[in-house]
Amino acid sequence: MKIICVGRNYLAHVKELDNDLPTEPMFFMKPETALLAPGESFPYPDFSKEIHYETELVLHICKTGKAIDEKSASEYYDAITVGIDFTARDLQNRCKAKGHPWEIAKAFDYSAPFGEFKMIGALKHPEDITFGMKLNGKWVQQGHSRDMIFSFDRIISHVSRFVTLNEGDCIFTGTPQGVGEVHIGDKLELFLEDEPMFWFGIN
Ligand code: ZN
Repeated sequence: MKIICVGRNYLAHVKELDNDLPTEPMFFMKPETALLAPGESFPYPDFSKEIHYETELVLHICKTGKAIDEKSASEYYDAITVGIDFTARDLQNRCKAKGHPWEIAKAFDYSAPFGEFKMIGALKHPEDITFGMKLNGKWVQQGHSRDMIFSFDRIISHVSRFVTLNEGDCIFTGTPQGVGEVHIGDKLELFLEDEPMFWFGIN
């Protein structure tokens, strides 16, 4: 399986990082080694001093597709959850300044924890999915899928022009505003439609 991540998909977050507004979806990938097993803690890596959380909705791809039309894109995902796109912001800023790829800042081990998938049909408000994260018991990010610059369907259509999607792949769909640092000892709790999905610690 592969993990595809969309960047710059919420206006307020694009502004908080002082990035340009995208005219089409921008994406990057993480390898399977970015997964974090359920119940495990996230090991703070030794190569960064500024690891940021980015709380995101994560789609589950349910069938293989290439060059998918936006109108039929909803047939290609069946379930959703919430996850963290961990980012070594210090390394990412250096990569951006040099025009280098982002892998060392984004694709490192355990950088993509996510919860169990919930069927789209079981959501209370599929037209505007709320999600969020509590850091040490305090809300730090709360998002609404209606605030996305590019819809799920647009993302699937765009990504599949370049990369074939397979059953079991997942797509992180971008973070709303409120990203920030984690520290050793922190506890992260993730929510989908106000329902707690999973939690883990930083060690
Ligand atoms: Zn992200």
